Amino acid sequence: MTAEPTTRVIAADANAIGQAAHTLSAGGLVAFPTETVYGLGADATNATAIARLYAAKGRPDFNPLIAHVTDIETARTLAVFNSEAEKVAATFWPGPLTLVLRKTLMCPVAELATAGLDTIAVRVPNHPVARDILRALGGPIAAPSANRSGHVSPTTAAHVLADLRGRIELIVDGGPTSVGVESTIVACLDGRALLLRPGGLPRTELERVLGGALADAPEMRIDAEADAPIAPGMLASHYAPKAKLQLDARRVNAGEALLAFGPKLPPGAERAARVLNLSQRGDLVEAAANLFSHLRALDMPGVAKIAVMPVPHDGLGEAINDRLARAAAPRESAAHERDE
Ligand code: AMP
Ligand code: MG
Repeated sequence: MTAEPTTRVIAADANAIGQAAHTLSAGGLVAFPTETVYGLGADATNATAIARLYAAKGRPDFNPLIAHVTDIETARTLAVFNSEAEKVAATFWPGPLTLVLRKTLMCPVAELATAGLDTIAVRVPNHPVARDILRALGGPIAAPSANRSGHVSPTTAAHVLADLRGRIELIVDGGPTSVGVESTIVACLDGRALLLRPGGLPRTELERVLGGALADAPEMRIDAEADAPIAPGMLASHYAPKAKLQLDARRVNAGEALLAFGPKLPPGAERAARVLNLSQRGDLVEAAANLFSHLRALDMPGVAKIAVMPVPHDGLGEAINDRLARAAAPRESAAHERDE
């Protein structure tokens, strides 16, 4: 996939579905209609494609993305369903409902798509074009709204083109979307179900099925993009390694692990307990794709500190540095921090 793709807009016919699936499986970015808003899709299992997706949206951070799947059986391969999740999924899927659940151990979704979290947001959309593309690809699609960061969510292909021309490979035009607001997000983790974001599925419908009031997330926050309260800091909390992070490390001390960037390693690298390079050639898309999986791999028993080489702040570097700074923050303050 080229750095500056030509964006093609095609009508949603049988041929378009095949092209969309082909583009996605090659790591490309495809905007398509769901019943809520147009989504910007990438193969959820391809970390490089996910990194390109964040770059195309121009986000200054890595917000965890919703994994879209064809049905609840496929969703079970990604996420663990408790009884509340079973109930609401059986009733409202396919539909404008996203569930935040624990990830399965074998979850194939790239760490970057879930921002390194142990939870995952999943949805079965109810739009024939989205469903056909999912079926044709045969795997999960990570798809945030198909707009530039800070802009409103698009409900037509023309909105998408205005925002993302030259940044994505393909737009499948399936006409205006019907719901027009984002999906309702509910977390079904250990305790009671929590409403993380109001959306296209009314709260009263959920409460009818759950047989009681749906608790609001204890700490709501405002999403700059959706202009609506969403996931609380605690739930969408950032990935934090057990080891301390030494940012902008210019040398490595004995016993430390090294998270490198670029071709030239700092003094003491040969003493490192383990070295992993975000991108030997200094490529920020490659670095983003590797960020969370490398951090996890270096966060191993016996390693008290991970030395992190400086990463430039341009392009995806801003989001990479944002996540590194959060991962390096002291635990107490980290717990209160709001995720973006
Ligand atoms: P969008 O795709 O633009 O509708 O936004 C998806 C929303 O889902 C974001 O605001 C995320 O914060 C939220 N989200 C995704 N994954 C998680 C998760 N694992 N825990 C909590 N919130 C999540
Ligand atoms: Mg959005």
